[in-house]
Amino acid sequence: RGTVVLAATPIGNTGDASARLVALLEHADIVAAEDTRRLYALANRLGVHVGGRVVANHDHNEREKADRLLDDVAAGATVLVVSDAGMPTINDPGVAIVRRAIERDLPVTCAPGPSAVLDALALSGLPTDRFCYEGFLPRKHSDRIAHLRSLRAERRTMVFYETVHRIDDSMAALLEVFGPDRPMALCRELTKDYEQVRRGTVGSVADSVRTDPPRGEMVLVVAGISDEELAAGTAAAGLDDDWQPI
Ligand code: SAM
Repeated sequence: RGTVVLAATPIGNTGDASARLVALLEHADIVAAEDTRRLYALANRLGVHVGGRVVANHDHNEREKADRLLDDVAAGATVLVVSDAGMPTINDPGVAIVRRAIERDLPVTCAPGPSAVLDALALSGLPTDRFCYEGFLPRKHSDRIAHLRSLRAERRTMVFYETVHRIDDSMAALLEVFGPDRPMALCRELTKDYEQVRRGTVGSVADSVRTDPPRGEMVLVVAGISDEELAAGTAAAGLDDDWQPI
């Protein structure tokens, strides 16, 4: 039997590619890539010859592809799964093949590496002992507000992925739900030349987004509710009477 290997790829800085990723690109029998052009571009930058068969594996065809790829694994192939950047399965394809491999009792392993969630969390300066990854907020403003309201009593540091198109709306939603004083960090272009971390509060980061709109890829890291806010009770925290801390 072969193996499925999930491998993280750089999120901006090619130098973050691991030696293991390079070896896998050279030697895997099959490379299942979210976008094959991006895979070849990465291989070019790394000076690597992709030795195996390359197949496209994106969100839309992942489930149907999974079983065919796993037939190859059952027959002895090493199938390398990569996404466009960072760790596959983290808001990226890869989940379907992991699930099916587990169901079919086929081996899965991981060649870890860059992922924006941990990079941003570590750089934020906010508590890291407990955190929750929230992925992307819903697209519609009203759904964002509803989702953030469900997090009002969250004590863990929260990590949100964001895009340049919706950052204004997200900052407005954060202000509305958490108020201006909650500590947060906006981390952009991580590992790239123009990496920048804007640390402050929801209010100060919202101001900076207005006066100096951030470009590129970004992650928002927001502190959980503080003990003081909790102690101040439901009124000060703007919480309903039936609200309970998580
Ligand atoms: N699988 C990836 C990972 O492990 O981080 C995430 C893929 S998700 C489709 C893309 C989002 O990740 C971006 O919108 C942004 O929020 C975040 N991201 C990826 N690369 C980043 C970078 N270099 N700097 C800041 N955020 C980044």
